[in-house]
Amino acid sequence: MVLYRKYRPQKLADLDIEEVRQKLEKTLSSPYLPHAYLFAGPKGTGKTSAARIVAKILNCEKIKGKTTQVEPCNRCDSCLSITGGRHFDVLEIDAASNRGIEEIRDLREKIKLVPVSGKFKVYIIDEVHMLTTEAFNALLKTLEEPPKHAVFVLATTEAERMPETIKSRCVTFSFRKAAVNEITNSLKRVTAGEGVKIDADIINEIAVMAEGSFRDATKMLEQVLSEKIDSREKLRAALGRDSVSAGSFLKLLKDKQIKVILQTIVTMAGQGIDLRFFVTDILNLLHSMLLDRYGLEQAGLSANLKGLYTSREISELIGVFSQVFQELKFASRPELPLETALVAWCEKGG
Ligand SMILES: [Zn+2]
Repeated sequence: MVLYRKYRPQKLADLDIEEVRQKLEKTLSSPYLPHAYLFAGPKGTGKTSAARIVAKILNCEKIKGKTTQVEPCNRCDSCLSITGGRHFDVLEIDAASNRGIEEIRDLREKIKLVPVSGKFKVYIIDEVHMLTTEAFNALLKTLEEPPKHAVFVLATTEAERMPETIKSRCVTFSFRKAAVNEITNSLKRVTAGEGVKIDADIINEIAVMAEGSFRDATKMLEQVLSEKIDSREKLRAALGRDSVSAGSFLKLLKDKQIKVILQTIVTMAGQGIDLRFFVTDILNLLHSMLLDRYGLEQAGLSANLKGLYTSREISELIGVFSQVFQELKFASRPELPLETALVAWCEKGG
């Protein structure tokens, strides 16, 4: 996690999810600053980093009064102490471990006090959906009448579990899974910063395998650097994804080579390969093929896969493999759902 911490976004321009960046720029340069922000979205998409950037912008010593400049300077005492996690007026609470009424009561007492050194007291509450009902009720009272100097940034991976009364008091920012090119951009920032060169193929493979998480992608990059991994194949082996490639498997399926397909599955199961990863790889590839069919250029999609299936077949296969993925969770023998689904597909006419 060293690199993830080192290359955490420190200003709005570093945020790779474009809609979030634009909405934050707009919100923070408006004269009407909200008292409560809700950052909702999957893990590893940069919610906490964005929360700290908001705290910096609100308290940066270089931003005085009304201004259109909405980036933190990252050099003043305030910015530096937020980066270091030691600013007195910026408090991070992990609701997964502090779920209760006591913590929120304590917060309600202390929030009345004026900030020690900054302009705003900023409370960042992570995994806020974990709070108990009583704690939510207490929080709601504060959100209804917040002191002028108080700002809340609530972050959650499960916004649907939060009370509407809380949500309606917040300006919501939807973090989504990062796209492959957004992850590629963030990885390039790390490699440039470290002064290392990594093959574009490897970067692309990481970006696909990270499945929308900047954090997972950066962890994989860290492994690539520490183990000096220099090819896609070695990367897949290092991450336990060392199976027949999703592309060649789809080609076997196109030719209805059911015997070879079954043999491949048996071999993978025998090697202890997690078939959920394999099926996920296939679904990711089918997804790229589908987008490519409609003219959305997909980096890393090889020419011989582009015309392999019609868009209708691709949609059907996505259905088949999604179903297999569901069934894998409950299968007594993990290879069975995959085998039966593919036998059915190959025996189907047409
Ligand atoms: Zn500053």
